[in-house]
Amino acid sequence: MQFAPTALTPDEEALRAEVREFLAAELPAGHRPALGFAGRHDPEFSRTLAKRGWVGMAIPPRYGGHGRSAVDRFLVAEELLAAGAPIGAHFVADRQTAPALLHFGTEEQRQRFLPGIAAGELYFSLGMSEPDSGSDLASVRTRATRADGGWTVTGTKVWTSEAHRNHFFAVLCRTSPMEEGRKHAGLSQLVVDLAAPGVRISPIPYLDGSHHFNEVALEDVFVPDDMVLGELGSGWAQVTSELAYERAGPDRWLSTFPVLRAWLRERPSVTDADAAVLGRLAARARAIRHLSLSVARALDRGQAPVVEAALVKEVGTRFEQDLVAALRDAAETELDQGADSLFASLLAEAVITSPSYTLRGGTNEVLRSVAAKALTA
Ligand SMILES: Cc1cc2nc3c(=O)[nH]c(=O)nc-3n(C[C@H](O)[C@H](O)[C@H](O)COP(=O)(O)OP(=O)(O)OC[C@H]3O[C@@H](n4cnc5c(N)ncnc54)[C@H](O)[C@@H]3O)c2cc1C
Repeated sequence: MQFAPTALTPDEEALRAEVREFLAAELPAGHRPALGFAGRHDPEFSRTLAKRGWVGMAIPPRYGGHGRSAVDRFLVAEELLAAGAPIGAHFVADRQTAPALLHFGTEEQRQRFLPGIAAGELYFSLGMSEPDSGSDLASVRTRATRADGGWTVTGTKVWTSEAHRNHFFAVLCRTSPMEEGRKHAGLSQLVVDLAAPGVRISPIPYLDGSHHFNEVALEDVFVPDDMVLGELGSGWAQVTSELAYERAGPDRWLSTFPVLRAWLRERPSVTDADAAVLGRLAARARAIRHLSLSVARALDRGQAPVVEAALVKEVGTRFEQDLVAALRDAAETELDQGADSLFASLLAEAVITSPSYTLRGGTNEVLRSVAAKALTA
């Protein structure tokens, strides 16, 4: 395992400044920040960002992208998340679907989907989890059977974020029967149109009533052969490599940062007790940022820092949650007195949503197990 220290170049620092300037102009004063990459879905903002070249940054120019480095993408994401920009519409397609298409997709699929993703106009969900398959993903029961010119898919996916707003999702399913002792074989990924006949999307609301998750039932949904993503039977290897792309970015440690910003802005003065809270949070944020940036740099060197990424997600998502607990304790008195402020409202939202951060994209228990196995191998 290696986390090589890395510093930003002058060009990278300039990019950061440019994004800050853009955000100061684009986000109206007093805008309500979104918490994390999934916080708010705003197609207009996604398109505006894409016009600046900040969506599809890692997609090659021949597919409408910009061929930028992982570090450049990191810096843009970091600024957007810290400011609470509404990036929920395009983020998953950009972070996860685009690299999967580049690695495993056919030329036809790349040409069909990547330009729309880079334009901030085409949105994807992830169809992995099922009612009885989460951490044990290889036990998925959604099955695809051969049909004339394609596949007929039947099964139920769950926790499918934003399926009610997005256009497609990549479904992990069984394309050949499970063989005794070889449950990772026989799985494939199919790109399914969320508006196709036989797809039924039902909301699973958060405690506060907000709607991000869904259950997606697939009943004899026809998927043409040209929508098979990658090789038939290689679905397991594909999704595990795909999960690795999504684990170490700033979206795994900055989700609740806008709550800290609001808290600081609303302090009439910073007491010693406030400074102690701030110091502890800032020190952790700084350390995690170095780890996360080092993973981006390793990706740019062509390395595959899978274990490092799992560890960054583990420490990063715990930090996001601990920040909420620390600020709730620090502001206990004013909250008890019924404080009505942006900070109080963001904190309430974070209290409801942050427990999910250590689950989505693989639970922390599973990530620790990934790291432990690699360290003892
Ligand atoms: C906000 C959010 C968004 C999500 N979005 C999507 C999405 O868009 N698409 C999608 O497909 N899925 C999505 N998920 C689902 C997510 O991937 C699963 O919740 C996650 O993989 C865990 O699966 P599970 O909920 O079935 O829990 P389980 O796997 O049943 O785990 C229950 C508990 O047991 C522990 N556990 C399980 N196995 C082990 C083990 N081997 N060792 C130690 N402990 C273990 C887990 O850590 C957990 O604490 C989302 C989840 C959340 C919270």
